[in-house]
Amino acid sequence: MKKKKIIVGNWKMAPRTIDEAKKTFAGIKKTASTLRNVDTVVCPPFIFVRELAERTSGKRCLVGAQDAFWKEEGAYTGEISSTQLSSLGARYVILGHSERRAMGETNDMVSKKTDASLRAGLTVIICVGEQSRDQHGEYTKRIEEQLKQSLSQVQKKSLSNIVIAYEPVWAIGANAVRPASPEDVLEVSILIRKVLTNMFDRESSHIVPILYGGSVDAKNCGSFMNEGGANGLLVGRASLDAKQFSEILKVAEQSAKRK
Ligand code: PEP
Repeated sequence: MKKKKIIVGNWKMAPRTIDEAKKTFAGIKKTASTLRNVDTVVCPPFIFVRELAERTSGKRCLVGAQDAFWKEEGAYTGEISSTQLSSLGARYVILGHSERRAMGETNDMVSKKTDASLRAGLTVIICVGEQSRDQHGEYTKRIEEQLKQSLSQVQKKSLSNIVIAYEPVWAIGANAVRPASPEDVLEVSILIRKVLTNMFDRESSHIVPILYGGSVDAKNCGSFMNEGGANGLLVGRASLDAKQFSEILKVAEQSAKRK
């Protein structure tokens, strides 16, 4: 497993203008470009991908997209293909985010999108996570199912371009119950590695970085990586604040150096 941490900012449908996007990106890049042990990925709305991707330099601060369609081209109004995103300079894509799943995205769709995105050369961040927790561990079955179905078309040789983000739905966004605890994160990371081991093999399962996402901020981020064992973070709200996101990046750098 790579020691480097991967910190991904999911900007969702913000900011309002390209000027704001450029300003925030510049602030993030200033810190990101100085960190040797962190790969930073900013995922803005589609329409900002090109301009921000043109502002990247080197590999420390890259741009990703928040979704991609599974077809290369055709009569699919409103959709955008992985190949188109790649041609604009996107290097990563988030797939199966819970907000998209809530709009009807299924594991089968995530699987087809994953296959198309890998073919286009993108690194795919697949989001998994339960709606709520129960005392009998039923939620683990949901995570297992999401993983198995979303990764059903992935070959072992492509695992180096896969990242899994554990995002419990109850911990995401302004209506979150609470952030997950580092123990929650560690428990599910172990589960994810077990599922990957069963699907592929033990060695391959360790190639795949596992991120945590859900109400991450500059104060709690260290605990998810240090005690929770996360290989990085998927950050929503806090990634739109260049100062706070930069703090998170610096904590990740320290965390990467610990082990
Ligand atoms: C997300 O939307 O992926 C997310 C983790 O959001 P937040 O950090 O705002 O909870």
